This record gives sequence, C-alpha cells and structure tokens, in this order.
Amino acid sequence: MRNTKKQIEQHDLHVKRGDRVILTSGKDKGKIGNVKKVIKSENKVIVEGLNMVTKAQKPNPMAGIQGGLNKIEAPVDSSKVMIYCMACEKATRVKHEIVDGKKVRVCKKCGEQIDS
Ligand SMILES: [Zn+2]
Repeated sequence: MRNTKKQIEQHDLHVKRGDRVILTSGKDKGKIGNVKKVIKSENKVIVEGLNMVTKAQKPNPMAGIQGGLNKIEAPVDSSKVMIYCMACEKATRVKHEIVDGKKVRVCKKCGEQIDS
C-alpha cells in the first residue's frame, strides 16, 4: 500500500504577528517594522511598510476598484528577519523563559521581555 498522504511539516516561526523585527537582507536591510502577517506554510512574514512592491491593479468598476499602481508589502522569508529588541535597540535572538507559569520570550542580550 502506498502512502500518498502529504506530510507538511510546519515549524513554529521565531516571529509572530505584532513582533517588531529588523530586516537582515534585501533593499530594506536594517529597517524595522511590525509583523503584519505570518504565512506559516511558506515560512514567510509580511512586515508592515517594508519590502514594498508595486503591483498593477486592473480596474474593476463593478467592484468599485480603480485601476492603477498599488504599493503592497511582499512577503519576506522568515530567515531574513530578526526580532528587534526595543530595550537594547538591536537585532536579537530570543530565549524562552517561564515567568509566573507562563512561557514568555525574552531578549538573549538584555533579558527584557519581548512579549508585553
Ligand atoms: Zn535586548
């Protein structure tokens, strides 16, 4: 019997929605933004205001859509973003700690909580 069931492995990304991240490559390298969306299946994130691309929008009067050029955020590979710590003002890695029985993420450099 063949096993045709597809196994899609989904790892938790190191970032999640609302995180402040810094881009580590690309044209917006070094810029900081908030994660707007996490696309887990593709290992990608959309960062507010960063990695903008211009997309042509076809006009669709029925839907009230005007044609033209729209600027939208393109997804960024999650390996190209790092958590940005507000406390030490640097790109950082996080470690997990248990505080009051709750799992929180803290900055590896300064120990400040990332989740607040
Ligand atoms: Zn820090």
